[in-house]
Amino acid sequence: MAENSKYIFVTGGVLSSLGKGLASAAIGMLLESRGLSVTIQKLDPYINVDPGTMNPFQHGEVFVTDDGAETDLDLGHYERFTNAKLGKNNNFTTGKIYHQVISKERRGEYLGGTVQVIPHITDEIKQAVSLVSNGTDVVIVEIGGTIGDIESLPFLEAIRQFKADAGSSNVIYIHLTLVPYIKTACEVKTKPTQHSVKELRSIGIQPDILLCRTESYLSQDIKKKIALFCNVDTDAVFTAKDVDCIYDVPLVYNKEGLGDKILKKLNIWARAPRLDDWREMVERLRNPRQKVSIAIVGKYVDLTESYKSLNEALTHGGIANDAKVELQFVDSTTLTQDNVAEVLSQSDGVLVPGGFGSRGIEGKILAAQYAREKKVPFFGICLGMQMAVIEVARNLAGMEDANSEEFDPYTPYPVIYLMKEWIDEQTGQVEKRDESSDKGGTMRLGAYPCRLVPETFAMNAYKTEDISERHRHRFEFNNEFKERLVEAGLVISGSSPDHDLVEVVELKDHPWYLGCQFHPEFKSKPMTPHPLFREFIRASLKNRK
Ligand code: GLN
Repeated sequence: MAENSKYIFVTGGVLSSLGKGLASAAIGMLLESRGLSVTIQKLDPYINVDPGTMNPFQHGEVFVTDDGAETDLDLGHYERFTNAKLGKNNNFTTGKIYHQVISKERRGEYLGGTVQVIPHITDEIKQAVSLVSNGTDVVIVEIGGTIGDIESLPFLEAIRQFKADAGSSNVIYIHLTLVPYIKTACEVKTKPTQHSVKELRSIGIQPDILLCRTESYLSQDIKKKIALFCNVDTDAVFTAKDVDCIYDVPLVYNKEGLGDKILKKLNIWARAPRLDDWREMVERLRNPRQKVSIAIVGKYVDLTESYKSLNEALTHGGIANDAKVELQFVDSTTLTQDNVAEVLSQSDGVLVPGGFGSRGIEGKILAAQYAREKKVPFFGICLGMQMAVIEVARNLAGMEDANSEEFDPYTPYPVIYLMKEWIDEQTGQVEKRDESSDKGGTMRLGAYPCRLVPETFAMNAYKTEDISERHRHRFEFNNEFKERLVEAGLVISGSSPDHDLVEVVELKDHPWYLGCQFHPEFKSKPMTPHPLFREFIRASLKNRK
């Protein structure tokens, strides 16, 4: 256990989707605004070892960190709200914890002893929490799931023990719960909260602070009642009112006095919060001077959770341009040669995001063609970039049936292909892969360097030559066809420093057309909108119909 660090454990009750991730991120932001350093960790009760292979329909986006961890989307919130540098150790699942314990057992580290949930699993969980503290002032740990779930019990037992280990003045528990408003009775109901806290206390955890999700502010009487039944101070019951803009959450908490209360409970002395810049950003987001419409041509279109970071990055691009970004989700499976122009003509810019699997591929290629020919700003991300390359190959470079090996292993022109061997710039090791490799472990994951070419859209956006962006893909631009594609008009504006991997492609004589192999959306923040999103939105605004 790192000395000096303070710990906040955030749990949730009554039902899921109350916004525990956002609450944790907002608390982190508030503490940073007082000059404290924070880190945030998510403990997920599910058995999967990592969320990488989980279906985004069920689970939402897979967020990727610099060190290549495939994590829960809540880590995206944490990074967008704070300056915390997150990595592999900031997300542990039950699967990962058990995997570690079982590996230790196999290596004989328990000396033949009986391996049990308490103490072996709980010790491993406590160690996982300690791993991220690293001298940080405050470690915030969010426990996934809802109190009462069978799966989360070992985590709750571990955080209960943690207080005894770290000292009672160094640990607090914040419980996020729901206080519903019942229309027929015209009143809010505190019973679900009472039950949830009762459940928490029955496993030995007494919450210090309650964050109550409600539609409107809780009266003093209601707070008193909740305090009485839940054994907390009345001034430790906070209204976590619904807001229309997620970036308003820390401001609402601050107004309620949550920051002061946390500091008092943890016995921390810090300066008053500095929130002016953040407040100004929220103000700008609320009252944009203009608006722009962007078509997102993708597959998982009906579930915006699976493109969480992308949606946020587009919003940030809007903040940078004082514009409201309206998204038009277009299911690429419905696009045809005949309707593409009509469908996309409603939008000022076209974005083809990342994705896996062959469904809707041809529609995405059509969207890229439409944007190229009609000179509509185009942004292709990862799979979107690959679609743009295929489109140029087929329609400008005369490579009929060009494709990615992912969708057509027998294509005569595999312009996007599976690299069989390469030197990993992160580790310096020679890596190999083929179609039969293990699913989880074969992707290019995490941050890789990229060098940009002057006088390109990319360089004009970043205003620097050397950048680093995060990846999550298996297939790559095939250099065998580079020359022909460049001759046909494709501009290679960014490559790995050794020139082996093409990272950014563009078109000349176009207002803005760019495809990147990486995922810039993972690094965009409301206070520092990503340069590519900023420029894409700017170009789309100029194209406003
Ligand atoms: N399916 C493509 C690949 O694996 C693109 C992945 C993505 O868009 N993240 O290379």
